[in-house]
Amino acid sequence: MQTDAGVTRCPQCAQQIRVDPGYVTWCDQCDWNVDPTAPDRRSPAWRLKLEHQLADTLYRELENGRVHRPGWDAARVAAYLLSAALLLLPLVALAGGVALLVFYRPLWLSIPLAAIAIGIGLMLRPRAAHLDPEAQLVLREDAPVLFRLLDEIAATIGTPRVAAVALDAEPNVCFLRVGWRFRPVVGLGLPLWTGLRPQERVAVLAHELGHGKNGDARHGWVVGAAESVLEHLEDAFTEQPYDEYKLDAAHAMDTDTSVGHLTRIINSIVGPIIRSYAWLLDRVSLRGNQRAEYLADRTSGEVAGSEAAAWALERTLLADSSYRALERALRFEKDLPPLEAVRRAVAETPQREIERRLRVSRLRETRTDSSHPPTYLRTKLIRARPATSARVVLGLNDNHAIDRELAPAAERVLKDLRASL
Ligand SMILES: [Zn+2]
Ligand SMILES: [Zn+2]
Repeated sequence: MQTDAGVTRCPQCAQQIRVDPGYVTWCDQCDWNVDPTAPDRRSPAWRLKLEHQLADTLYRELENGRVHRPGWDAARVAAYLLSAALLLLPLVALAGGVALLVFYRPLWLSIPLAAIAIGIGLMLRPRAAHLDPEAQLVLREDAPVLFRLLDEIAATIGTPRVAAVALDAEPNVCFLRVGWRFRPVVGLGLPLWTGLRPQERVAVLAHELGHGKNGDARHGWVVGAAESVLEHLEDAFTEQPYDEYKLDAAHAMDTDTSVGHLTRIINSIVGPIIRSYAWLLDRVSLRGNQRAEYLADRTSGEVAGSEAAAWALERTLLADSSYRALERALRFEKDLPPLEAVRRAVAETPQREIERRLRVSRLRETRTDSSHPPTYLRTKLIRARPATSARVVLGLNDNHAIDRELAPAAERVLKDLRASL
């Protein structure tokens, strides 16, 4: 894979650097060109500094091994209070609507007002987590080997067994509790899952089940429901392109523009309040979310072995390229099975490219989403602690058996993806 690699000189420090065709050329001495696609929208400096500090203190706390469980610190209590206050909103709206109907007269005025209040209450009602309708459900009877592995990991961690696996085309894996019965479901994104070696699969599954064990997903429900309410509010009170158009049209036709202006005024007052609230909730939950990630990583290391856990994290840095390889194969490659294209793209990635992406994660403090600490700190923490050996091992035969079990569902996922391209 590195046979046709050439050599060039770094324009910044004149160090000899290797050129891997198809990958970014960068200097490991001075980090020249390490992040050529850096986002243009930089966060303000104070915010970057704050996030660096947060990442560092949390990292040191965990490196010393003092924290074992997400605790009830001030930030977590604040996240709950902020969320609970928000979840009361639909209740207040519903109660207000009913009160209007009962106590307010004349009826011709109370009925429409009550309808508005009740409508708002229903719109903002908290919703249970549900599966993406595009995801393909794999049940226990469809995949005995996969579920045997999941059960073994769950038993090792000491957490309830998984009810189902949801297969989709997202470049990640996740754990969620579905519906009002909060049934544990593991979501497997094909682009990431396919590129993982057997023990790395054990590692990502243990990480996800670790979230279930630590109660992160339950914690996530209260805060998550509040976040979904905020999203609805933000949508409702943000100027839509359509609002602008309506106002222009009203101007053009010389009709009444007062409603349009009123909407704009309400948006400009309520919108920032909602966005500030969302920002605050995000800040106070960030620390707890990041700690939860480190603890799930620790579980992953204890179950799959620390080396596999660290490798698995480094593979997740390639998930986006895996997704693009999958897309490319679906569009252009007629002879190569799409999942084989993903496997090759991951297997052929030079170690140097993985190292570059780790450095990018350090520079940008990238998170898989805002709730994740930077990958370079996560792998560093796993490797800084005493090495652990695997307690659950996935053999090659079982690994192939799992691929065969998932094949029918994977075929359906790929068919949907191909249709959407
Ligand atoms: Zn250089
Ligand atoms: Zn996680």
